[in-house]
Amino acid sequence: MARYTGPKCKLCRREGMKLFLKGTRCDTARCALSRRDYPPGAHSWRRGKFSEFGIQLREKQKVKRAYGIFEKQFRNYFRKAERTRGNTGENLLTALERRLDNVVFLAGMAPSRAAARQLVNHGHVRVNDHRVDVASYGLKLHDKITLSEREKIRKTVSESLEATKGRERPAWIEIEPDKLEINVATLPTRDDVSVSVREQLIVEFCSK
Ligand code: SF4
Repeated sequence: MARYTGPKCKLCRREGMKLFLKGTRCDTARCALSRRDYPPGAHSWRRGKFSEFGIQLREKQKVKRAYGIFEKQFRNYFRKAERTRGNTGENLLTALERRLDNVVFLAGMAPSRAAARQLVNHGHVRVNDHRVDVASYGLKLHDKITLSEREKIRKTVSESLEATKGRERPAWIEIEPDKLEINVATLPTRDDVSVSVREQLIVEFCSK
């Protein structure tokens, strides 16, 4: 599966917000955004204000970059959100929030969404006692996420939980650190979305 392999901190600097792409480094003073809080590239300070199109585009890019998905996959999510009853923007964000790799990351079992995706893709994650190696798997109410019994994996995940314990955990999932288990207690609503974004601008952009 394709993934972005370029410099990650540049993406945060471009979007002007922390996207938490580099694991525990993001929580320290070594975060590039803390040190260079301006867009990457030469003469970036000389560029003017964004047009309306530019603002909408940036909101879309923020979402794609935060969740680590590419354009085609994003469009599929958007089309599905449009077809679902309710607010398209909210449907889009809550569907992304329910991705298996995102939940593993938010629970602190991996330091970044990329690391969570690797954990899933390598077959170390189980949903309701069945191995699931699809990072985009959409979790449902009362799903139970556990890990493989491999000692090395469980140790790595425990270390990640410890390293990320200062991060805020979402209220819609229940985490049992001792059992290395996550339960989907309720489905996420708009208020639970972990990426700060104006979804209406994305809907306007994608509806053109
Ligand atoms: Fe973004 Fe993390 Fe790099 Fe900071 S350290 S700029 S949050 S990827």
